[in-house]
Amino acid sequence: MILYSTRDKNSCLDALLAVVSGISPEGGLFVPKTFPKLTQDEILNYCNLTYPQLCALVLNKFFDELSIDELNDITAAAYKKFDTNEVAPLHKLTDSEYVLELIHGPTIAFKDMALQVLPRLLLIAKDKKNIDEITLVLVATSGDTGKAALDGFADVPNTKIVVFYPNDGVSEFQKLQMVTQEGKNTFTASVKGNFDDAQTGVKNIFANKDFEALLKSKNIKLSSANSINFGRLAPQVAYYISAYVNLVKYGAINIGEKINFTVPTGNFGNILAAYYAKKMGLPINKLICASNRNNVLTDFFSTGKYSANREFFKTISPSMDILISSNLERLLFEILDQDCEETQMLILNLKNNGEYELGKDKQEVLKQDFFALFASEEETNSAIKSTFEKYGYLIDPHTAVAQFVYEEYIKKTNDKTVNVVVSTASPYKFCSDVLNALNLPVSSDIFECAERLNNYTKAKIPECVMDLKGKKIIHTDNLEKQQMLEYIESIIK
Ligand SMILES: *Cc1c(COP(=O)(O)O)cnc(C)c1O
Repeated sequence: MILYSTRDKNSCLDALLAVVSGISPEGGLFVPKTFPKLTQDEILNYCNLTYPQLCALVLNKFFDELSIDELNDITAAAYKKFDTNEVAPLHKLTDSEYVLELIHGPTIAFKDMALQVLPRLLLIAKDKKNIDEITLVLVATSGDTGKAALDGFADVPNTKIVVFYPNDGVSEFQKLQMVTQEGKNTFTASVKGNFDDAQTGVKNIFANKDFEALLKSKNIKLSSANSINFGRLAPQVAYYISAYVNLVKYGAINIGEKINFTVPTGNFGNILAAYYAKKMGLPINKLICASNRNNVLTDFFSTGKYSANREFFKTISPSMDILISSNLERLLFEILDQDCEETQMLILNLKNNGEYELGKDKQEVLKQDFFALFASEEETNSAIKSTFEKYGYLIDPHTAVAQFVYEEYIKKTNDKTVNVVVSTASPYKFCSDVLNALNLPVSSDIFECAERLNNYTKAKIPECVMDLKGKKIIHTDNLEKQQMLEYIESIIK
């Protein structure tokens, strides 16, 4: 299908080329003009499919230039590395509360759901469009995207990947995952500053015309693996549909019955995919947007005013420590009835003044689909503890933010609709914080922490955790913000 830029009606590309480009030349994000439809019969048919088969059919709605066979090959390969055939299983807490586990991929965070697919989409897109350039993938990460992108792109032909992460903004485990990454085409360095510094650095490199000319002379083209790439959004739509299909299969809901999703949110990519699924026809009542102490989205949904002019907090859910949620632009575009000029005006305001505000009528439109709350650090900790005590179920701090917010939502609304909390990382990715929340002693050795957590909770340790133990540290660079470009230049020399 053809995708359009959120900032310029005349800038459009087919979906495969949009994956290669990442972002539209004037800075807009690629979006569908009309959403493909999902019928009730299709949902029923999906009940008989494996996850990769279901995902291929969903992808085909966006990437209709690819055959079902080609997409089946892509999704079968992408989800082979997951530690369960179900890929995205549902865990039942009560008759009306489920957890969608997106934590079974090679890096034990939900980013794998899309980042195992994206490199394969990119390869087939370049092949179909006869593009012979080398792709240089640049990533700024708050922790999980970096490792998932490195794993997805490692040893992909004609591709190099460079990941920048904030020096002290990621967990020790996340850092170890990245600095031990193998593969001749993978590079990663820490940057002094927070995530927004790393992301701004990457954005500046994308906008640097001299650098672009240098790359062109070497037949290299920049691309992005951040969630602004449409190739990440499309595979995420599939797991919302799969969750619904599973609830029907288990008899937890009747076909056509609406459900809620509660999503721990940072850059707004994950929850946006749920919104797209709703637009396609998946029966969804409310999307509950859960934030941590960096509650810029909570304020946005309750007041219509988005303001990044506020203090930045480091929390125990670091992948949600974000003040500028890039994918919100795609929601704005829809709320503003796909008006590019208006969308661009708001984004320009954000860029120049750090804020923008929606009109009253548009605020009401948002409230039809969304509900937003946040969890403080104490509330996040207490949700980890109470969920384990109540259900014997161990969750990570990001998932705990969502679990807390969902429980608050029930108190405020008494809405009995079946809810699915989206689980975005394994608790073993954040062992010391989880031990802390359970009032257990923390060791300075992260592997000892993992074993301690396992002893106490009996939650299975994912294989990749202990695999890290003997791995060689390969990437050691620590950069000033101004050195990011130099670092890339040394790689492409
Ligand atoms: C990336 C991430 C999030 C936030 O997802 P967005 O798509 O950026 O909103 C939440 N939890 C974890 C564990 C993540 O890695």
